[in-house]
Amino acid sequence: MARARIIPLFVPHLGCPNGCVFCDQRRISGSPLPVSGADVSSALSAARDRGERGVELAFYGGSFTAVGLDIQRSLLEAAQPFRADGTVSSIRLSTRPDAVTADDLAWLRGYGVTTVELGAQSMDDGVLLASGRGHTAAQTERAAGLVKDAGLTLILQMMTGLPGSSRETDVASARRIAALAPDGVRIYPTVIVRNTPLEDMWRAGLYAEHTVADAVAVCADILPIFQAAGIPVIRLGLNPTDELTAGGAVAGAYHPALGELVRSEVLRRRAAALLAKVPPGAHVTLGVAPGLVSAMTGQHRSNIASLTAEFSLGSIRVKPVEGAGEDMVLVDAGP
Ligand code: SF4
Repeated sequence: MARARIIPLFVPHLGCPNGCVFCDQRRISGSPLPVSGADVSSALSAARDRGERGVELAFYGGSFTAVGLDIQRSLLEAAQPFRADGTVSSIRLSTRPDAVTADDLAWLRGYGVTTVELGAQSMDDGVLLASGRGHTAAQTERAAGLVKDAGLTLILQMMTGLPGSSRETDVASARRIAALAPDGVRIYPTVIVRNTPLEDMWRAGLYAEHTVADAVAVCADILPIFQAAGIPVIRLGLNPTDELTAGGAVAGAYHPALGELVRSEVLRRRAAALLAKVPPGAHVTLGVAPGLVSAMTGQHRSNIASLTAEFSLGSIRVKPVEGAGEDMVLVDAGP
């Protein structure tokens, strides 16, 4: 079934008391006008005028339940006529784990909210502290339970490469997040955004950049954890924006095709496990699901080249196999 079209509106970081080191709220907080009920009405009127039905309204970008109650109510009230006429079928919002109560969730649900995204970021309290998150892993576990108890869809967001983290802490965080059985996760490897405290830490030598290569390596450890648990990874890597591409991302794991690079690395590792049993010089055919052929081949055939060299093979061909899922099949390995 096709997913409902999402109409995203960005709630500013109004009054956020926190100082997450990677967040650029101080840079942007003075400029764009806060999204208002009128903005909600106008975005949804435009959708209705285009004949759209059953869209999902999404409040992203801030901590929805941490902005004033009057603002939350005005944004949600503005959406109600469009729920009534069928333009909007659901509402999703993102917020912080320490800004969620059972009462909040009950009234949000009454306004048509169906999905809550929590910024867990890490399940390691040392990493959370070093990153200025201002909440603990236990608070994330509690909030996740509240969202599920309220009958809402739970999406958890995590980051890799935060200050104080290592490959091991990031993998351990992924395991703890998977254990919370969310309905989906987003993984955001850390990007150093201009004019953030993290940029200052990096320039002062207090933080080592989480490179694209670092992110690919750790995310290729993490992705199979969620796959094995049947938890969809609905986003991997920051959405590219003109601002980030034009210099807003000063360093770190910013790559427009990060998700593809990670999927490619996961498949390269699976292929390596199969090819370890193949004699040198063999001409090999690997079978993967049709949608994974390009990821298995790798950008500029990088996986084929590196695996052929690593295992001294005659050649590697990748063949689409219907129904292969995430598995990989050794179709043929002849002389
Ligand atoms: S909680 Fe952190 S990431 Fe979110 S708006 Fe506040 S400072 Fe930024």
